Amino acid sequence: QIDNEERWEEALPKEIVDRIAAGEVVQRPSSIAKELIENSQDAGSSSIEISCTKGGMESLQITDDGCGMSKADLLLAAVRFATSKLTTFDDLKSIRTFGFRGEALASASMVSKLSILTKQASADIAYKCQYTDGEVESGFPKASAGTNGTTVRVDSLFYNIPSRRKSFSRDSEEYNRVLDVAQRYAVHRAGDGIGMVCKKAKQKTVDLNTKSLPTVQRLMRHKKAKQDSASVTDQDRIRAKKEAVGHVFGVEVARELLTLDCGEGDIQTVSEASFKALQDGTMTVHDPSLPQYEFAYKCSGLVTNASYNVKQSSAAFLIFINDRLVDCTGLRKAIEAVYYDLLPMKGRPFVYLNLEVPGPHVDVNVHPTKKEVAFLHEDRLCEAIAIAVRKTLSSSTSSRTFKVAS
Ligand code: ADP
Ligand code: MG
Repeated sequence: QIDNEERWEEALPKEIVDRIAAGEVVQRPSSIAKELIENSQDAGSSSIEISCTKGGMESLQITDDGCGMSKADLLLAAVRFATSKLTTFDDLKSIRTFGFRGEALASASMVSKLSILTKQASADIAYKCQYTDGEVESGFPKASAGTNGTTVRVDSLFYNIPSRRKSFSRDSEEYNRVLDVAQRYAVHRAGDGIGMVCKKAKQKTVDLNTKSLPTVQRLMRHKKAKQDSASVTDQDRIRAKKEAVGHVFGVEVARELLTLDCGEGDIQTVSEASFKALQDGTMTVHDPSLPQYEFAYKCSGLVTNASYNVKQSSAAFLIFINDRLVDCTGLRKAIEAVYYDLLPMKGRPFVYLNLEVPGPHVDVNVHPTKKEVAFLHEDRLCEAIAIAVRKTLSSSTSSRTFKVAS
């Protein structure tokens, strides 16, 4: 297998090999959107706005009000494996980012026309930069006018892979996928004071706008002013998320939500040696030789109660692990099983889960295109969360007569 791959690389020019690799990371507009949204949230933004032309195939633009990049950062932004987000052992508790590092912008630049306009609050001017095949085009970065924050633009996706471009038939489907990712992040981040907008370019109507929601707006102001978060309570965060659920999935769903809260152990539970082994890939979370760490996780969420039957269109499963939108079949199945016992035939729930596990417990070596993640103690964790969901549902059923509208 490896022999084959090597021969294959020898036979093809480097640009083509890079392009093929990039095409694996960048599958379609929504996979770029996800990476760009994550970058914007990592940059501490309170506002993230996405705009698409032809479902993002012609152009996908994302504007944030985050920390921005320096002129020097721009030179490195699209270099493969270049990242400003270090994951050191000391960082353990604050690790939010996992997976392949420094690949998103590099990959985008190899299969599209990438440009970035950015300004740091401390800088007098903004800079603009264009990239092709992972390299800065000559004449860039250029001084430019601009406001604090970053705008990333991905134009002409797959212009250099015609066969790939042709395989996309309907722009509306691509747009809906972008919108879906944006909606999910909008719900998840509402509680952190990040408001999101998603629209088609040159259209007045916006398809997503959590910036207009009262509690989200208030939390955005807090975030922007970098005010002490002590004045923002957990109740505020929950209210903001419920507003976002109402905005995206319908007020009916939002009215029927129960809050879930469970977890045990200290999130920071890994030895430095194991952490390094997991990071450099000499060990995976499936490795039988991996020492059994203390079982640690935290999970909060919003789930519809057992007597509410969600309309098909608003049924959804949103799973975030360490702030990354993921698929986790095991977890989904375990929770669905709880509802199947309780809901009438064909009933479907709305479930949003925000799971926090120690960074290294998530398999960092799962390929970036796989939204499906692997993590340590997965079975035990799924079971524990399913039990918590069951408890939440049954306690609400018994106290239903006292339920008040939120
Ligand atoms: P990664 O996110 O893994 O570091 P990316 O290719 O997604 O890799 O981004 C490369 C680098 O570009 C980031 O590490 C960050 O320094 C910078 N960057 C990207 N997007 C933004 C943004 N919206 N605001 C500020 N910096 C950004
Ligand atoms: Mg990134």
